Amino acid sequence: MKSSNQLNHNLSARIDVIQGDITQQQVDAIVNAANESLLGGGGVDGAIHRAAGKQLLEECRTLGGCSSGEAKITKGYKLPAKWVIHTVGPIWRGGNNGEDDLLRSCYRHSLNLAEKKGIRTIAFPAISTGVYRFPLDRATKIAINEVKQFLRENLSFEQVIFVCFGDDSYRCYFKNVSELVPLRGIKN
Ligand code: ADP
Repeated sequence: MKSSNQLNHNLSARIDVIQGDITQQQVDAIVNAANESLLGGGGVDGAIHRAAGKQLLEECRTLGGCSSGEAKITKGYKLPAKWVIHTVGPIWRGGNNGEDDLLRSCYRHSLNLAEKKGIRTIAFPAISTGVYRFPLDRATKIAINEVKQFLRENLSFEQVIFVCFGDDSYRCYFKNVSELVPLRGIKN
């Protein structure tokens, strides 16, 4: 058996960027960029509820909503993913209203919740960069840096996939991962 020293120090192998639909991802958990009601919405939230089926909404009704920066977990129902982690990103209000910290907190709380549930592979959308209008490049750097920090501290966590819906998002993540994540094989 490999020891944790041999495994998973390699950040670039554990962070992936793809262009696609998060509802199709074969991972332990997908993350939903939800709103505070947790009762469904547009964008990625609507897509996840449509793909998971009505039971997801029924479970969400029992959760009592979720504050911005926090995260809650449900089952995935008809999704390929076993779990959905619902987090509420900040609405962009110019950048001086705690938006960066709240977005960081979304990633951190989602990952901590995943770790507690024994989840080892997770897919994130670009939280807050749609209807909530957080600037894409700034949000992308926050997402990558928070994930890097978590993976360094949790060596048994296998894979984080950033799922980009559009071309702009994919290009932005690709560029930032190339700059912020050390190349395969180099410890950092
Ligand atoms: P928010 O309200 O947090 O801004 P949105 O759902 O409006 O949430 O957008 C967040 C991001 O999710 C955007 O980059 C949007 O393009 C993307 N997105 C929308 N649908 C999907 C999907 N099916 N899979 C992955 N990402 C998606």
